[in-house]
Amino acid sequence: MKVARILGIDIFINFSWLFVFALVVWSLAGNIGPLHALKLAPVARAFLAIVTASLFFLSVLVHELTHALVARRSGIPIRGITLFIFGGVSLLDFEPTAPPREVWLAAVGPLTSVTLGVAFAALAQRVSIPPHHLITAVHDWRGGFTLVFDCLARSNYALALFNLLPAYPLDGGRVLHALIWRSTGDQHQATSYTVIVGRSIAACFLALGIYWTVTDGFGLGFWLTLLGWFLLQAGEAERVVARVTEALRGHQAAELAQPPAVQVRADQTAATALNDLLNAHVHAAPVFVGERLIGIVTLQSLVRVADPAVAYVTTAMTKITEVTTISGDCEAVDVTRQFAHGGPPLLPVLDVDGEVLGFITREIVLSWMMKDPLVEAPL
Ligand SMILES: [Zn+2]
Repeated sequence: MKVARILGIDIFINFSWLFVFALVVWSLAGNIGPLHALKLAPVARAFLAIVTASLFFLSVLVHELTHALVARRSGIPIRGITLFIFGGVSLLDFEPTAPPREVWLAAVGPLTSVTLGVAFAALAQRVSIPPHHLITAVHDWRGGFTLVFDCLARSNYALALFNLLPAYPLDGGRVLHALIWRSTGDQHQATSYTVIVGRSIAACFLALGIYWTVTDGFGLGFWLTLLGWFLLQAGEAERVVARVTEALRGHQAAELAQPPAVQVRADQTAATALNDLLNAHVHAAPVFVGERLIGIVTLQSLVRVADPAVAYVTTAMTKITEVTTISGDCEAVDVTRQFAHGGPPLLPVLDVDGEVLGFITREIVLSWMMKDPLVEAPL
């Protein structure tokens, strides 16, 4: 779910995030939360809890934004940021190509969180009441905001620490990856070692979390279990990506290109084109003038045409100059990256002279990956 666009970067929210937001507000304002000590009305406590949770999630967003901005500055395209259960993930189009870049790209996040933590601690200092007044003044709003800022300072420090854990896909894991990469000179070996370390950490968290949950009941143990499970899942996803990359190494985009299931002529009406697409069970098709590719139409763009029986198909077309294309001699891995987060409906593959070699769809990429015995699960 897209919620905003900041500095040209799309911000998405995963539904798990809304659940966690509610959980954080509830645990802050609840009977065991830090705000309970305040002699405030429940409504006021809930308000402070919502302020705290909002500022915390804003802190997570700032953390991710700095990653995204550093990535963009070093020429790595960014698709956006997704906020989900344990914070955020910046969606990068390409992995960094050299270790020093990766270190900086990863380290900037925790650095941001520490800086935010220091800032919130300073704010807490400013609004705080001298210690000898504290007992009598806890019912004051000032006391409330001291607690809020103090809580935010701590959570930002915790965020920095958590992200420094050497487990993929956390920042610490990326730093570890870069360090192994630098010392061995082998990116893929670095990935496998990082995945092993990450799994070990996840396993420890899971074991400890389950143990604490059994002995002490819900609380820290529950969160630790959740964290361990998350790390295990994320590490597994990373391992699949690494295997896919390995499997596709040495293959070129031209090998994946296929002729279009249906092609449309520029002098067709939108209605006949729509009919052709529906009959061929495809959601996108190339538009040609003779042999020349001039653009792409999709089902969505065709159904939006006002008078399809009369209007030419070109009114619904995305011009070839605005379409993402890929060169036939590009690495197949680059193609999978195009489709990692949805991707274009149809990716034209061109040779050096700009002639069309064929087209790649998400389905083609997936079937190509499944065909390979190295890959056990599709993305
Ligand atoms: Zn980070």
